[in-house]
Amino acid sequence: MAKTQFSWRDIRADERPLGRSNGHAQFSLALVYANSYHIGMSSLGFQRVYDLVNGTPDWSCERFFTDGTGSPRSVETGSPLGGFGAVAFSVSFEEDYVNLLQLLQRAGIPLRREERRADDPLILLGGSCAAINPLTLAAFVDIFALGAAENLLPSLLGSLAEESSREAVMERLAGTPGYFVPAYHRPQEFGGVEKLKKLDLTAEQMGMPGHLPTTAIVTPRTEFSQKFLVEMSRGCPEKCRYCWATFGMGRFRWHPSEFILESLERARAVTDQVGFVATAVGDHPEIERILQEANRQGFRSAVSSIRIPAVTAGVLAALHDSGDRSITLAPETGSDELRVKLNKPIPNSLLFDKVRMIFQEGFTQLKLYFIIGLPEETMDDVEAILEVAARCREIMLEELSPRGIIGQIDLGTNILVPKPYTGWQREAMADPKTLGRKITRLRKGAARLPNVSLGAMSIRQAIWQTYITKAGPEAAEILEQAAAGMDLSALLRKYAHQIEPLVFERREGHLPWQFLRAG
Ligand code: SF4
Repeated sequence: MAKTQFSWRDIRADERPLGRSNGHAQFSLALVYANSYHIGMSSLGFQRVYDLVNGTPDWSCERFFTDGTGSPRSVETGSPLGGFGAVAFSVSFEEDYVNLLQLLQRAGIPLRREERRADDPLILLGGSCAAINPLTLAAFVDIFALGAAENLLPSLLGSLAEESSREAVMERLAGTPGYFVPAYHRPQEFGGVEKLKKLDLTAEQMGMPGHLPTTAIVTPRTEFSQKFLVEMSRGCPEKCRYCWATFGMGRFRWHPSEFILESLERARAVTDQVGFVATAVGDHPEIERILQEANRQGFRSAVSSIRIPAVTAGVLAALHDSGDRSITLAPETGSDELRVKLNKPIPNSLLFDKVRMIFQEGFTQLKLYFIIGLPEETMDDVEAILEVAARCREIMLEELSPRGIIGQIDLGTNILVPKPYTGWQREAMADPKTLGRKITRLRKGAARLPNVSLGAMSIRQAIWQTYITKAGPEAAEILEQAAAGMDLSALLRKYAHQIEPLVFERREGHLPWQFLRAG
């Protein structure tokens, strides 16, 4: 057997668990993040499932990641992935689909669900990708869990514990709200009308004890090194047309402040750093009080992202007191007109006011995220991005230079990937040649602005993402080739006849992924 290149024992030695672990439980679930330990343990959703399974009587959870070579082994006991009765993947990014297939290959588990035998593990998929469009992986996954782990784990673990065969588990869950079981749900071979129910957290559940997701294991080996993460809210008060988070997670609702602050008590024993996370952290009605109270208790606080209107002097002061010097905003476009079309009616004048406030409060680094390739976007809109960057730089110099500080502005440029269940789900991805010209123009313009950097998404990656987010089971062969190691450029060339119509043509009529409905 091939050896892993590192030791899970070293990694475990750095971990500081806050939650429960049933070492000798009767049942065990393999929980897999189809990427590295570093990325997987940075995911609050993944840590939440781990915590919930270990908190279920008679159950324990063992984690798997892509690190190493050969047969994947669990972090907890070194058990092989193929030896579990059920393997649950948590996937939030479509790019990880190829890693998922490679992990199955390494474990000796047949890739196609129809080739699995009675003694092969059941392959389950949860996380946001399951609810965006499960059809892309329908040839590989036995059961998709659609919605919040808190609602789905009781029925899932109950079925796994009580049923004696994989067929019986699939049959039972096919009749349970919140699951898509491709072997049983075959509405017109996955293009049809049968409506399956998603079960996300309700506003009432958000205010119930036990429903507040937090980090289960603090470790230095994540994006948020040593931070204890706390979920603040779900959904978003905005409805930006490209954003799956707002359409897929339902209306905006938040956890009560007292639960959020109580959770810090659990964290105190292992860390003094806390990260408040959500799609719209700054919109929690008591964000200022929560940040101030965390500071008062001796925590250093950070937030995941903040909407432009939610930036206030109080929030900035609390973050600055915690030692934060960097803020990320997402204007998305340079022109007010295009921002209105995107359904984010925030004028540049408000953006500039908030940017001034940020530098006045002592922040020295500003990250601004933009999207190009939007419907109706022109070269003038791209010029407008550079004008916004230049104006923000002027503000930075006006505020920081008198204090002898040199600040930094980083521009992140993504390409629109029109996703299912968003306002732009029917749109085509922009033409690569035009995108190439726009990126070149942005690079040249940003190069003329000292202390301004620009990072741009690869066009090839955007094509691949658009394809796999919209594809159906016919993508199976392409994904298998990718898992076998075919390079992305070769893949896009070989399967251009299949990929390009789905990516570059506007979708009219029936949308095959629209067989899921909110619970
Ligand atoms: S503000 Fe952010 S989270 Fe909210 S809808 Fe827009 S992109 Fe999505």
